[in-house]
Amino acid sequence: MSAILEVRNLKKHYPIRKGLFSKQVGAVKAVDGVTLSVERGETLAVVGESGCGKSTTGRAILRLIEPTDGEVFFEGKDVRKLPPEELRRFRTDMQMVFQDPYASLDPRWTVQRTLEEPLLTHHNLKKNELKSRIEELMEVVGLSPYQAHRFPHEFSGGQRQRIGIARALALNPKFIVCDEPVSALDVSIQAQVLNLMQDLQEQFGLTYMFISHDLSVVKFISDRVAVMYLGKVVELAPTSELFTEALHPYTKALMSSVPVPDPNVQKERIVLGGDVPNPENPPSGCTFHTRCPYVKDECRSVIPELREISPGRQVACHLY
Ligand code: SF4
Ligand code: MG
Repeated sequence: MSAILEVRNLKKHYPIRKGLFSKQVGAVKAVDGVTLSVERGETLAVVGESGCGKSTTGRAILRLIEPTDGEVFFEGKDVRKLPPEELRRFRTDMQMVFQDPYASLDPRWTVQRTLEEPLLTHHNLKKNELKSRIEELMEVVGLSPYQAHRFPHEFSGGQRQRIGIARALALNPKFIVCDEPVSALDVSIQAQVLNLMQDLQEQFGLTYMFISHDLSVVKFISDRVAVMYLGKVVELAPTSELFTEALHPYTKALMSSVPVPDPNVQKERIVLGGDVPNPENPPSGCTFHTRCPYVKDECRSVIPELREISPGRQVACHLY
């Protein structure tokens, strides 16, 4: 396998300005040095509590927001330095599926118009080609082409997310950032949409970055997992290994909150003290030290680097 995407030391800081002259007095470090790679054809899940920088990372990779610093290589090219013509192509190769399909679809647009829009922006299609492409897209996500003249409110939540997926597929992308794509849906519908996404991945050779806070969804869908805490990746591992043996104390705490299906298996629930610190003023050293049950002196001053400690397993913690 080879990496389709490589992210190095990605940062997104939002300046905080105050006073008459809008002087910058600080920054919210939403993403603070994320390094990871995504292999072609895999699903890399990005997990963590809300506010840890998962969505911002996804958006900064797609350049929906401009990163403050760092590099993003897609198929070997630095996407932050692409000339306009190549940036246009990059925009078709990488797409996003949003959490709330209702908010991401224009309520005044029919499905037809929603799907037409990217096609008309990027391709010169004749009327009949456009029509057959829209029919094809609807069928591929399990909707009837006869519904193309309908508006978003005429569909169920699951169907609306299928429309969002169809729109993301319209330009034949290679890579899709899925930002909590099923968390707004009923649990009974989630599995259908996840199965659809897996089928589409296989059918079209897609690579996914799958952002989620729901560990059971992550366990089902992903090949590898990156765990984020306060704008940084603290652990990266193959999904099966992470769920059998988490290494980072934060990951251990996250995992301990997942219900065990077998009532004979006893699992110790690790409850973290305190709240997630303010990203405007993160703790020194290891940013997790204010909540970590294993904290030692060194943790308060020395930032632990994300290091590979066995093949495919990376962790940022002084215990390793
Ligand atoms: Fe805990 Fe120290 Fe590891 Fe941070 S570096 S997770 S504080 S043991
Ligand atoms: Mg989010």
